[in-house]
Amino acid sequence: MKRAADFPILSRPVRGKRLAYLDNAATTHKPERVIEAESAFYRESNANIHRGVHWLSQHATDLYEGARERVRGFLNAARADEIVFTRGTTEAINLVAFSWGRANLKAGDEIVLTEMEHHSNIVPWQLVCAQTGATIKVVPITDAGELRLDVYESLLGPRTKLVAIGHVSNALGTINPVARMIEKAHAVGALALVDGAQAVAHLPVDVRALGCDFYAFSGHKLYGPTGIGALYARRELLGAMPPWQGGGDMILTVAFEGSTWAEPPARFEAGTPNIAGAVGLAAAIDYLDEAGLEAAAAHEDALLAHATAEIRKLPGIRLYGTAARKSGILSFTVDGIHPHDLGTILDSEGVAIRAGHHCAMPVMTRFGIPGTARASFALYNDERDVAALIAAIAKAQKLFG
Ligand code: PLP
Repeated sequence: MKRAADFPILSRPVRGKRLAYLDNAATTHKPERVIEAESAFYRESNANIHRGVHWLSQHATDLYEGARERVRGFLNAARADEIVFTRGTTEAINLVAFSWGRANLKAGDEIVLTEMEHHSNIVPWQLVCAQTGATIKVVPITDAGELRLDVYESLLGPRTKLVAIGHVSNALGTINPVARMIEKAHAVGALALVDGAQAVAHLPVDVRALGCDFYAFSGHKLYGPTGIGALYARRELLGAMPPWQGGGDMILTVAFEGSTWAEPPARFEAGTPNIAGAVGLAAAIDYLDEAGLEAAAAHEDALLAHATAEIRKLPGIRLYGTAARKSGILSFTVDGIHPHDLGTILDSEGVAIRAGHHCAMPVMTRFGIPGTARASFALYNDERDVAALIAAIAKAQKLFG
């Protein structure tokens, strides 16, 4: 797959070197088409939405609602009003925690999370548990970085109200068997939320086939803009959920005696949303569709396999996350070199990786390490990026050796 030319930033040298951008799990770059869609919105279509009687406002509304329809199709949701635009995954999960969670959780209730969750699928639940008296149960992970499904099943019971699981781990790359886990959650009457932040750019997602109740993702991990993402939620759940933020656009009537709420999704989109971002996100989905999600995934899987084989040839390497089903993430440590030092040396070679806890501190605690170095792949990476990564690690080892 040769896609790098579609991404203007990839042609800029960094520290005088060819950029090998391997920090895609943090954020992906944007193709010209997305950059153009967002700037064209401001040049040609900018107006506030849903309120204006004038032509431009209706036009901007059509673009925004068209983007919602595009996200619906991308996730194969049944209806566009099951898609709420948010700032990203974090806000989508907070929406569920503070709307559904505050209204439905009470002392004695349990939420099941996993040890490999990103902080944004842990902390909102801690906050809502502190307010409601509900508690959190945690599914542990194996040495290979897979979920202990036997323990998962033993944690489920009549007290379980929600299971919230990552589709793909950002720290380990593990692809979790979410469909099976959702089925088990439903069998005890619990709802299931999937954090899809790391999945949507790498796996086809069909929320109806998965059977999930909530699915959250961020546009910027999908070649789209920052500050835009979405929550999918089943219509009957959304319809019964109270607002969690108040303001313009989310109301039906406002009076000092009391206000009433708009139907979803407007009920959950208080204030002027990121209209241009939504338009950019739709363009990103178009781009990925055209490139072919499955072809992209196959390309990234091949790069991951190649990088894994190459890095294993170096001495003193420890890999974290060796699950049978993995998405394009290579998490590792190098004996005698702190991940941050490694990241700095790699940067001086034009190789951009992430070093640290990856907002998944419980994973680091599980493995007894402060952090890892993480290389993560996107459709525009190629074997030169892998070669640059391996050469830069070897150079770091020489320096520290
Ligand atoms: N969940 C996972 C698995 C992630 O990798 C990330 C981002 O790194 C998030 C949630 C949070 O996404 P955002 O910061 O876009 O809200």
